[in-house]
Amino acid sequence: MRTQNGGCPRPGVPGHYGNVMRKIALLGLLAAALCAEEKVDLGIVQRIKREAFQNSKVMDHLFWLTDVYGPRLTGSPGFTAAANWAVKRLKEYGIEDAATHEWGKFGRSWRLVKFSVALQEPEYAPLIGFPLAWSANTNGPVVAEPVLAPLNITDNLNFKKTDEELQKYFQEQKGKLRGKIVLLSKPRDVTPGTTAPSTRLSDTDLAKDAEAPVPQAMPPFDVEKFILPEKQEERRAFFELAPLEVQTRFWNRMEKMTDEVNKFLAQEGAVAAIVPSYNAAAGTVFGEAAGSFKQNELAAAPRIALTVEHYARIARLLDKKVPVKIEFEVRSTPEGATGDGLNIIADIPGSTKPDEIVMVGAHFDSWVGGTGATDNGTGSAVMMEVMRILKALNLKMARTVRLGLWSGEEQGLFGSRAYVKNTFGDPVSMQLKPAHAKLSGYFNDDNGTGKIRGVYLQGNDAMRPVFETWLAPFRDLGVTTISIRNTSGTDHQSFDAVGLPGFQFIQDPVEYGRITHHSNMDVYDHAVPGDLMQAAAVIASVVYNAANRPEMLPRKELPGPLKLKN
Ligand SMILES: [Zn+2]
Repeated sequence: MRTQNGGCPRPGVPGHYGNVMRKIALLGLLAAALCAEEKVDLGIVQRIKREAFQNSKVMDHLFWLTDVYGPRLTGSPGFTAAANWAVKRLKEYGIEDAATHEWGKFGRSWRLVKFSVALQEPEYAPLIGFPLAWSANTNGPVVAEPVLAPLNITDNLNFKKTDEELQKYFQEQKGKLRGKIVLLSKPRDVTPGTTAPSTRLSDTDLAKDAEAPVPQAMPPFDVEKFILPEKQEERRAFFELAPLEVQTRFWNRMEKMTDEVNKFLAQEGAVAAIVPSYNAAAGTVFGEAAGSFKQNELAAAPRIALTVEHYARIARLLDKKVPVKIEFEVRSTPEGATGDGLNIIADIPGSTKPDEIVMVGAHFDSWVGGTGATDNGTGSAVMMEVMRILKALNLKMARTVRLGLWSGEEQGLFGSRAYVKNTFGDPVSMQLKPAHAKLSGYFNDDNGTGKIRGVYLQGNDAMRPVFETWLAPFRDLGVTTISIRNTSGTDHQSFDAVGLPGFQFIQDPVEYGRITHHSNMDVYDHAVPGDLMQAAAVIASVVYNAANRPEMLPRKELPGPLKLKN
């Protein structure tokens, strides 16, 4: 095992222990003196806080990213326009090399230009909902009858079972859907809420986060045949422990199911599909893609997500055999974008070690129900603010600080994975590029508007003393917790996958799970200004420290190559 700088013993407290302990503590002091000790310049912290609070531009960034340019679906005109705005703004802050970089072909360019949905019979009623991304166009308004044909998939990660259930569904529904609007799910019951829709992490929650998870072995899985364990806890262990590239294979396989349903609906001549919001009620509608974003896949029929109450009303009417008619229209255009995958990259060059890099990043893309405010306008606005603060204070930083704003995160971390593969190394073969030796660390922001409460070490024990020191000045702003745990589902994983230190912060959930995450209410109003200012100050300080730390950040043991067929 390699010895890493961050693993340096920290000074003990002589006198507090017995004789032996005192000696160990003294040895620790000596060792600590020999290797770099973490330091924080509290004068700089004060200046960063002042700039981040009194001169904050974070809500102005968010305004442009949401109210003006949102939503920012990957490959869409909205994304491109928002990206061009971000580049312009970064340049105004004096970050001259800010630019968009194409990471590859993404897929379809899709921008909604017209939409309506209403009940026509038995009584006119406007319906609350939105068409999911990459829905095909209708040719003007369409009036059709809905039919309840719920598809019941009992376990969407057991692919053998899923295939059987799909085939059974196709046989049962064959010949029944022509010219119809297909209600694809069973209606969900609405029950009065008894818990707060917005929460902050309590001391108990944070104490739990600080505890190491119960040790677990990697459960058996077969990535070639796509077989996962049946037991829920083993599956959780798989998604906690398996390399990102292995997990991605399973997620990709899951998407095939939607494509097959869409092909079936097209063959059968269904005019649209309607689904209920999979989360929340009371007019809040959650939803993502209608089907594939890939150019070579069939464009999905219009798929509309409705608030559960309106969906349930239609289902009840059908159940009681009352005739129902729905009018809807979906019109989108690919104009204004090429469907290419774009990342935004911007550097503040380092003074004495410009070839060594500290990175901050967030995904810039969103879904389409709202304007992508908390997912992930807030993370993008905060990271732009971090760059602004560092530049405005003209802080002397030895290493180069680089911003990466990614696209395609929502479809599988595409932008950051491509960037890492092109710049640092291949996570499958583990063939590394020279730049791999020069990236100190990557810090990510993508869990909504909630302020920072600590950080996930992603299993990197050696980073604990580093973060403890760096985050200490922010205790009174709520930053208290260091967790050894892995957190997943966002772009730091792309860096972690090739053995680079990549971190995501612990954040208060606020309304993320219950109201905003991938919903029509993911809009500017649900961002909390004070929380975003806090996050910008914390991250700017972390980045400043990383840029000036004598050594680069300690790393975990390098992962080996993966045996995966392409
Ligand atoms: Zn998301």
